Amino acid sequence: MKIICIGRNYVEHARELNNDVPSEPVFFLKPDTCLLPKGRAFYLPEFSKDIHHEIEMVYKVCKEGKHIAEEFAMRYVDQISVGLDFTARDVQQGQKEKGLPWEPAKAFDNSSPVGEFIPLSALKNPKEINFRLDVNSVSTQVASSTLMIFPIEKIISHVSKYITLKKGDLIYTGTPSGVGQVKPGDILDCFLEEEKKLSVEIK
Ligand code: MG
Repeated sequence: MKIICIGRNYVEHARELNNDVPSEPVFFLKPDTCLLPKGRAFYLPEFSKDIHHEIEMVYKVCKEGKHIAEEFAMRYVDQISVGLDFTARDVQQGQKEKGLPWEPAKAFDNSSPVGEFIPLSALKNPKEINFRLDVNSVSTQVASSTLMIFPIEKIISHVSKYITLKKGDLIYTGTPSGVGQVKPGDILDCFLEEEKKLSVEIK
């Protein structure tokens, strides 16, 4: 499986990192080695001094497809959760300044813990999904899917023009504003609506 991540999908987050608001979805890939086994702590890697949390809604692909029209996009995902897109912000800034790829800053081992999935059919309102990240019990990133620049249908349509989606792939839909550095001892709790789906300790 592969992990497809969207960047700059929330206006306030694009602004907090001094990025332009994109005219079409920005995406990048992560390998399956980015997953974090359930219950395991996240160990800060030695190559960065500034690992940031980014909570994101994550959709799971349920069947293979390419060149998917927006109107049929929801046939290709059937589950949702929340996950973290850990980012080495200092490394990313260096790569951006040199015009180099983001992989060293994004695709490192265990950088994408993901929570327990629920069926999309279990959502109260699939057009308005609320999620949040609590860091040490303080709500730090609080958002709704209505704030996304590109909704999931547009993301699926756009990405599948370039890359075949396969069953089991994960789509990280971008982070809202409020990103920040994590420190050893932090506890990151990720909520989808009011249910905690993921808890990660930083070491
Ligand atoms: Mg992200």
